[in-house]
Amino acid sequence: MDDLVHSALTRQRKRAAAKVRSRASGEDAKKSAAKQSPVKKSSAKPKLAALTAAAIRRPSREEAEAAVATLLAWAGDDPNREGLRDTPARVARAYEEIFAGYRQDPASILDTVFEDVSGYGEMVLVRDIPFFSHCEHHMAPFFGKAHIAYYPDGGVFGLSKLGRLVDVYARRLQTQETMTAQILAALDARLHSRGAAVLIEAEHMCMSMRGVRKPGALTVTLQFSGPFKSDPAEQARFLSLVRDRR
Ligand SMILES: [Zn+2]
Repeated sequence: MDDLVHSALTRQRKRAAAKVRSRASGEDAKKSAAKQSPVKKSSAKPKLAALTAAAIRRPSREEAEAAVATLLAWAGDDPNREGLRDTPARVARAYEEIFAGYRQDPASILDTVFEDVSGYGEMVLVRDIPFFSHCEHHMAPFFGKAHIAYYPDGGVFGLSKLGRLVDVYARRLQTQETMTAQILAALDARLHSRGAAVLIEAEHMCMSMRGVRKPGALTVTLQFSGPFKSDPAEQARFLSLVRDRR
C-alpha cells in the first residue's frame, strides 16, 4: 500500500475512533441516567423501539464507503486493486437493503385490519416465513423461518403484513431472542390481537463458519402471550400446527 493511501487511512481511522469514543460515552451517560440501581444486564427489559436510530447521526455515504475500504485493508487486501475498487459502494448499497428495517415503522405495518370476517375468532397461523438477519455480535448472517399465530379480536391483519413485520425486525442487527420478543410485542400492542405466539428457528453463520463451527445447528426461540401463555393446550396446538408438514 502506498504512503498516501496509508496516511489517509490512518487519519480516517483516528477520526472514526474519536467518533466511536464520543458516541460510546454519550450512550453510557444515557444508560446510567436511565438506571436507578445497578441491575444485571440480563434482567433489563429489551427496548422494543428502534431506540438508537434517531439518536445517532447517520454518516454520509462517503464515510460509510471509507469505512468499508478500511475493513478491506484490515482484512489484508488492497482496497485500490481493480476487483475491489467498487466494493465499498456496493457494500454501502447492500447495507441500505439488508438494514432497511431501521427506517421502517413496525406499528404502521399492522394498520391494515380487515374487520369483515363473519365473526372469525379462531387462531390465525402463518408459518414458514423465511427471513434473513444479521447477528448484532458478529454482524454475521443468521437465517431461517418464523412462525406467527395470533387470536383475532374484531378483525384480522392482512396476512402479508405478518411477513413484512418479520422483515422490519430482521433487517436490523439482531439477536434471535430479541427479534422473537419484538414481533410478539408488536402484535400485543394492537387492539386486534388478544394473544400471539412466535416461534423462530434459525441457523447462525457466526456459529456455523467460525467460533464453535457447528453447521446445521438450529436455534429455536419462542414466546407466547394471551391464551397461548396461560394455556399449555394452546401452546401444544400451536406447536403441532407449526410441525404439521402434510
Ligand atoms: Zn453472532
